[in-house]
Amino acid sequence: MNKVKKIALQHSRTVESLIEGVATSDGAGVKLTRVLTGKLQRRLDPFLMLDAFGSDNPDDYIAGFPDHPHRGFETVTYMLSGLMRHRDSAGHEGLLGTGGVQWMTAGRGVIHSEIPEQKDGVMEGFQLWLNLPAQNKMSEPWYRDFPSEQIPEYVTEDKTTVRVISGCSNGVKGAVTREITEPLYLDVHVHAGATFETAIADTHNAFIYVYRGAVKVDDVLVESSRMGILSNAAETDGVRITATKEARFILVAGKPLNEPIVQYGPFVMNTQEEIHRTLDDFRSGRFA
Ligand code: FE
Repeated sequence: MNKVKKIALQHSRTVESLIEGVATSDGAGVKLTRVLTGKLQRRLDPFLMLDAFGSDNPDDYIAGFPDHPHRGFETVTYMLSGLMRHRDSAGHEGLLGTGGVQWMTAGRGVIHSEIPEQKDGVMEGFQLWLNLPAQNKMSEPWYRDFPSEQIPEYVTEDKTTVRVISGCSNGVKGAVTREITEPLYLDVHVHAGATFETAIADTHNAFIYVYRGAVKVDDVLVESSRMGILSNAAETDGVRITATKEARFILVAGKPLNEPIVQYGPFVMNTQEEIHRTLDDFRSGRFA
């Protein structure tokens, strides 16, 4: 187990606003909740999208996401429960299982499929889209699977379990680090009454999404299935979160790119012209 270097937090961020996701479906009819939608892309730069999925009804997920393209950003899939097979045009293939993470940098373009490899039971997790800086949008595609046991984890004195998917929390380095956007992605399990603290750079945009129980940040209650956007203030050095009942949440933070965002479905570029070129490249089969 990792050694924890506890920080002495001076000023916690507060919750600026609470967001309820929008029920939608994507792929070949997978039911999901879109928590981070287009209108929050500016506020939560460098994050472009967060989908939460969770169902024990196979009709909600069985069709999966057949072949589709991406360009210009990274997709991070975190599986709380379930089994999903990934295949892409860059020759990568992997099986994403319970507790595992799949990190894909689409870069200049991949065509991939994400298909459930279970016929029943619960499928639950998140897909986060992380933007790429303009200089890296046309980079080589990159892909890696991290099975659950490769996700660094630490436990605090009051039995809070923290899984560090990316970035660094209380001295524990995550599975993935990224320059420029410096993403922090934690999955936190806090017992009723316990308080969790972690540093967040004051340059970063940050949010939590509670998926079990409820927490309080300062005096704002964030209940299950709610995203709390954390305030940005120069004097803050992190966040202090108390579970009002046993709770699980993800905490996501990243350094904004402050570049133009032009999205056309699965393509996110900086200009309309680049989107036209992307469509042209895709239709002419110039994706990897
Ligand atoms: Fe995809």
